[in-house]
Amino acid sequence: MSDSNELLSLTLAEARDRLNAREITSVELTDAYIDAMERRSELNAYITPTPEKARDMAKASDARRAEGDAGAMEGLPIGMKDLFCTEGVQSTAGSHILEGFTPTYESTVSGNLWNAGAVMLGKTNMDEFAMGSSNLTSYYGNVQNPFMAASGGNQPLVPGGSSGGSASAVSGRLAIAATGTDTGGSIRQPAAFTGIVGFKPTYGRCSRWGIVAFASSLDQAGPMTRDVRDSAIMLGAMAGFDPKDSTSVETAVPDYEAALTGDIRGMRIGVPKEYRVDGAPAEIDGLWKQGVDWLKDAGAKIVDISLPHTKYALPTYYIVAPAEASSNLARYDGVRFGLRVDGKDLNDMYAHTRAEGFGEEVQRRVLVGTYVLSAGYYDAYYLKAQRIRTLIARDFQEAWGSCDLILTPTAPSAAFGFEDKADDPIAMYLNDVFTVPASLAGLPAISVPAGLDKDGLPLGLQLIGPAFGEETVLRAAGVLETAADFKATPQLAA
Ligand code: GLN
Repeated sequence: MSDSNELLSLTLAEARDRLNAREITSVELTDAYIDAMERRSELNAYITPTPEKARDMAKASDARRAEGDAGAMEGLPIGMKDLFCTEGVQSTAGSHILEGFTPTYESTVSGNLWNAGAVMLGKTNMDEFAMGSSNLTSYYGNVQNPFMAASGGNQPLVPGGSSGGSASAVSGRLAIAATGTDTGGSIRQPAAFTGIVGFKPTYGRCSRWGIVAFASSLDQAGPMTRDVRDSAIMLGAMAGFDPKDSTSVETAVPDYEAALTGDIRGMRIGVPKEYRVDGAPAEIDGLWKQGVDWLKDAGAKIVDISLPHTKYALPTYYIVAPAEASSNLARYDGVRFGLRVDGKDLNDMYAHTRAEGFGEEVQRRVLVGTYVLSAGYYDAYYLKAQRIRTLIARDFQEAWGSCDLILTPTAPSAAFGFEDKADDPIAMYLNDVFTVPASLAGLPAISVPAGLDKDGLPLGLQLIGPAFGEETVLRAAGVLETAADFKATPQLAA
């Protein structure tokens, strides 16, 4: 098989099986993607494409396979979110301050993927330091969603964020799969906006070592893929204990693909009443009800549950995340990494570097974070937010007494235009209303494309599971996917 459109339409699992059957080579597959990346460069999904490296890696992969030595991701060309440090390849985190920063080390997760045989197509675009829900805060320009609204008059739409480049690449067929990171929804929301599967595993499942830190108690890496099986395969390759990350958890990585039995009979699915928000489009609510019916038809039991502290999740997140960010970003001072803008003395150099190097949203977060951590406000904001975070985690803990998983919408809207929320940070933060609670509680949560809105734009449903319940989440997600039978392909796919 050599037709390039056919190659680009393969899922990761299908490509793996054809590679194993020697029907295609990694070089052929990789070349098809390199060509697609060039043809669809206007999506701006990549900050740094690495075609030469990709070809070298693909050749090496084909050679390994010929020797009978093939890993779980052998020969599969993927996008790597630019938040992962990659040895010898510029890693910017979407920020001007890290422009030109070329790490001398490899993040654990990207290293795991290369060890499993994956091929790197390039570093994908993202919101600056992963702060955003639209990919509009990247220093390297907006990313376009490959989907267009039927009534939108060709107005470009955001792919969601912060992993917008990865989402656009996978949806637009510029990568077979990609990595994302999720602090408050950055894997799940862009997956929902672009009609792909995004899985944030349990906090501690994937190592954070070598990932540029945003909010360390929330950040988690996860796969962004075309379907649930691909998510299972890729998570298996990414996950694992890492002694270099003290919050990574020492438990064996299960065979996630084997969890996709299609059988959820007797599984209890919780439907939390607090996730019904005023003003959300009727289509979102309708899809949620449809999702409940699909799972019921597959033999699950539906349970009404309550997560009473849900309404505090967003304000809590927007205190905790900026607080940690302000501290994590203190290291960008013009001395050690990337950009330096000179001044009349050392303090002046710090100020100039940070003023020029950080974009507006990042500066806003550093200001908010510094404020909530300052003497006099620490107790009123940060400490209180920490306490509420505990209550939110406890809500979930109690819910697991009566259900095995929780079903909710992923986001309160479909993809929006570049200008729609750009001047209103609060409207932007509201995007995260359904994704942030699971992040605060450290729980695994997946977004599955489940339907289209009236404009033909993708909508996602979210399944949240108990800590280390990835197999259950994937199993139910597989059932949801089969029932939804989502087949829409974007207008701007390569
Ligand atoms: N949209 C959220 C924020 O701006 C979440 C981002 C993320 O998960 N990295 O903080």
